[in-house]
Amino acid sequence: ERERLARLRHTPAVTIDGQKIELLANIEQPDDAPAAVKAGAVGVGLFRSEFLFMGKTGNLPGEEAQYQAYRQALDGMQGLPVTIRTIDVGADKPLDKGHKDNYLNPALGLRAIRWSLADPAMFRTQLRAVLRAAAHGKVKLLFPMLAHVSEITQTLAQVDLARAELDARGVAYGPVQLGAMIEIPAAALMVRTFFKYFDFLSIGTNDLIQYTLAIDRADESVAHLYDPLHPAVLRLVADVIAEGHAQGKAVSVCGETAGDVTMTRLLLGLGLRSFSMHPAQILAVKQEVLRADTRKLAPWAQQVLQGEVPAA
Ligand code: PEP
Ligand code: MG
Repeated sequence: ERERLARLRHTPAVTIDGQKIELLANIEQPDDAPAAVKAGAVGVGLFRSEFLFMGKTGNLPGEEAQYQAYRQALDGMQGLPVTIRTIDVGADKPLDKGHKDNYLNPALGLRAIRWSLADPAMFRTQLRAVLRAAAHGKVKLLFPMLAHVSEITQTLAQVDLARAELDARGVAYGPVQLGAMIEIPAAALMVRTFFKYFDFLSIGTNDLIQYTLAIDRADESVAHLYDPLHPAVLRLVADVIAEGHAQGKAVSVCGETAGDVTMTRLLLGLGLRSFSMHPAQILAVKQEVLRADTRKLAPWAQQVLQGEVPAA
């Protein structure tokens, strides 16, 4: 089976009815890039940059070290685009494993963009490193866990400020597309507003499911209720994808459901054309894509959304 899949590495991901599907990789370290290319990824859809920072409390990588890491990821991808998500620590990804969060509810606390906006100088250090790396390849910048317009405008103001700081230093930087994660139900419900500010959106189903269903994604005792097929979750995902088509802007899914072969047909039926996943899943998902006919999947997916047929 693995050998058979390996032969698909260079096969373009196109459905029976000719829909081109973008299969991207999720990576955690620059070293992961070569494996992503080898698996046939056409880019990185999610570089979880927090992994550069975790376990390094007190000695966080500065602008230069981050710049080198992002360049290394770009080099590893051999000219393919790399989507760098700004640091998403907190909750199940503490900066320092030995240090226990005192917050009552870390998943609802100071994590991801909230953490970055709480320390704008540190945030801009990362932004400058990303902008500089963008002078050497195709870089997209992705922000996690946005929910409020005020967070969006603060974030974009920090990007402008980071560019101004580089200008003042006379340091070269490149253009970046700006995108937001849709992983809080509030964000999914105001997707039009998000499209006013961003070039592309990426749906983080891991957190979107967690926050929609109030199920801690790391809590085994309620894992049976963590359901990617819950109609409320599917409705939010479907609406974001549909709005992307309406606006002619890119929408991707980068949560675990994107790499789950039992979800591929449904996501294609809902109109998804860009999937980002662990590199090990890419060929198996590609096989599903090659067998899919979106003309048949689309009406079926609408029925699933209405809860009229089982999703399997
Ligand atoms: C997600 O929430 O689906 C996601 C991709 O981000 P992470 O798993 O890193 O929180
Ligand atoms: Mg997330």
